[in-house]
Order: sequence, then C-alpha cells, then structure tokens
Amino acid sequence: MTDTCPDCCRRRIPPCAERRRGGRIAHGYRCPGCGHEWVTARHLPAYSELHRRAPRQTRKAA
Ligand SMILES: [Zn+2]
Repeated sequence: MTDTCPDCCRRRIPPCAERRRGGRIAHGYRCPGCGHEWVTARHLPAYSELHRRAPRQTRKAA
C-alpha cells in the first residue's frame, strides 16, 4: 500500500518496512525525493469491514 509524503507531497511511495501485530499493520516509508521518514499504522479488520460495506455507501463525489 503506497502513501504520500507528508513533507513534499510526493505520491505513491512504496513502504520500505512492514510490521504486523494482531489486527494492526504499520508501514514504514522513506521518501526518495526529500528523505523524509514516517510510519503509517492501519487497522486491518476496520479496512476489510470498510470494503465489505462499500457497496452500500457508494458515493461518487467529484
Ligand atoms: Zn518527501
């Protein structure tokens, strides 16, 4: 799962590290543009639930 650099807004940066613990996953990123490093933590169950409910909440906001 790619992320956007919070420092220079470079997009689609692939994670260079991944850590799982229980239902959580944390991705470590390092921006190739400015060298900024950050970690994004996500909850796996919450994500799969969002995908399951997606059809009911389909909104195409422009
Ligand atoms: Zn950057």
